[in-house]
Amino acid sequence: MSDFRALAGRMDINGPRYTSYPTADRFHGGFGAQDYQQALADCAASATHAANTAKAAAPLSLYVHVPFCENICYYCGCNKIITKDHRRSARYVDYLAREMALVAQQLGTRREVVQSHWGGGTPTFLDPAEMRRVMDALHQHFHLLPEGEHSIEIDPRRIGDAQMALLAELGFNRISLGVQDFDAEVQRAIHRVQSQAETQAVVDAARRLGFRSVSMDLIYGLPHQTTARFAATVEQVLAMRPDRLSVYSYAHLPHVFKPQRRIDERALPAAAEKLDILVGTIEQLTAAGYVYIGMDHFALPDDALAVAQREGRLQRNFQGYSTHAGHDQLGFGVSSIGAVAGRYVQNARTLDDYYRSLDAGVLPVMRGFAMRDEDHLRRDVIGALMCNGVLDVAAVEARHRIDFAVHFAHELAELARLAEDGLVRCEPGRIEVTPLGRLLVRRLAMVFDGFLREDARRTEPAAIRSADAGTPLPMPTRYSRVV
Ligand code: SF4
Repeated sequence: MSDFRALAGRMDINGPRYTSYPTADRFHGGFGAQDYQQALADCAASATHAANTAKAAAPLSLYVHVPFCENICYYCGCNKIITKDHRRSARYVDYLAREMALVAQQLGTRREVVQSHWGGGTPTFLDPAEMRRVMDALHQHFHLLPEGEHSIEIDPRRIGDAQMALLAELGFNRISLGVQDFDAEVQRAIHRVQSQAETQAVVDAARRLGFRSVSMDLIYGLPHQTTARFAATVEQVLAMRPDRLSVYSYAHLPHVFKPQRRIDERALPAAAEKLDILVGTIEQLTAAGYVYIGMDHFALPDDALAVAQREGRLQRNFQGYSTHAGHDQLGFGVSSIGAVAGRYVQNARTLDDYYRSLDAGVLPVMRGFAMRDEDHLRRDVIGALMCNGVLDVAAVEARHRIDFAVHFAHELAELARLAEDGLVRCEPGRIEVTPLGRLLVRRLAMVFDGFLREDARRTEPAAIRSADAGTPLPMPTRYSRVV
C-alpha cells in the first residue's frame, strides 16, 4: 500500500474507465439509424447461420434505461430527469415498448437473453403496473433465460417490501443499491439523506426473497468526508455483507455537471486525504475478505465475478465488470448504449428526440461507432489487462494476425517504464499486471488506447517526434482523476 500511495500521489492518473473501447466520447454522429439497422441485420444473420449449422445462437445482453428521479443528488453525473410527475414515466414506458418491438423486428427471431440490467436514473421510479408493462414487452420479444443474471438498480429511499417482492416475481435475481456514504453531514451536503435502516431493510428483503446477489455503490471524495468518517461507513456496509461493492472516486466537474455547483468546494477532502480514504478502504475491504476485482470493484470470493476472474472469463461491459460480456448488448431507452455486431450505438439523449424518432418508426440513434480491426485488437488487449491481469501475447498474435513486438513497439517501450514503477511484468510471450498495477490498471490500459495516442500526436507533435518511443502519453484533462 505504501508503493500505491507514493505512485498514486506522483502519477497523473486521469483516464477513462474503459467500460467500452473505443470509449463513448469517440462515438460520432456519422453513425445513424441505418447503421444500427445493418448491425441488427448482421446480428440476425449470424444467429441464422448458427441455426443452419446446428449451433445455438449466442444469447444477448439487454440494458434498459429509466431516466427519472424524484430528487437530485448533487454529485450526480448521470443522464437523468428530475420530476415528481409520474405521468411522464407512463408515456416513457409506451415508447420503450415501441423501441423493443422495432429492434426485435430487425432481429427476426425471439432471441435468448442471458443478462439484463435496468439502470437509470431510478428504475424503481416506475410504478408496479409500469414495471410489469416493460417486463411484458421484454418477454414478448425476447426469451429471458431464468438461469441468467437479471439485475436492477434500486434507490433504498423509495422502495418497500411489496415492491421488492414484485421485483422477485418479475424475475430479477440481482439488485444494486446506491449508498455513497452513511455520514449524516456528508448526506446533507450531497442532498441524499438515506438512513442505514432504509438500506438494511432492502438488503434484508433481498435475502428473504432469494435474490442471488446484492451489490452496493460507495463514493469517496465527497464533501466533509474524512478517512475516519468513511471508514465508519465502510464498517456499516461490511456488516451488511454485500456480495459486490463498487467504490467510485467523486470527480468534481461543476462546469460539466450543473448540480455539482451546489456542492461547497471548500468542504471537499484534499487530494492527500482522498488518497488516504481510498487506501484505507482497500485495506478494510481486503481485510474483510473481499477480492479486489479491479477498477473500483470488489467482490466476495464466491461471487460470480470473483470466480470468473479466477477462471480467466471476466469481461468488461457498460456496467463495469461482467461474466457475460462479449455477447451483443441491446440498449433500450433514452441515452442507452448498445454493442451489436462490432458496432457501438447510443440512443438520443433527450426525451423529445427519442420520442420523435420512434413516432417516425425510426431507431432513435444519436451516435455510434463501427469498429475496425485495429479497434478489436486494442479492445482485446485492454480487456485482458483490466479483467484477468495477464496478456498471452502469442494468443493475441494468432487471433489478430500481428507481430506484437512490431505492432506495439511504442506501447511496449512505455510499458517498460511502468514496469520500472512495479505496475507490470513484461516477460517473453506474457505481460502480467502486478498486484500494485491492478490498483492503477487504467494507467496500463491507457498505454494501448490508440485514440489517446492519436490525440497526443496531434497536440504534442514535437514530443512524439523526439522519437523516445517510451515517452508517456500526455493525458487529456476531460477525464476524472482517480484520486
Ligand atoms: S445519483 Fe441516482 S438517484 Fe441521485 S440523481 Fe443521480 S441518478 Fe438519480
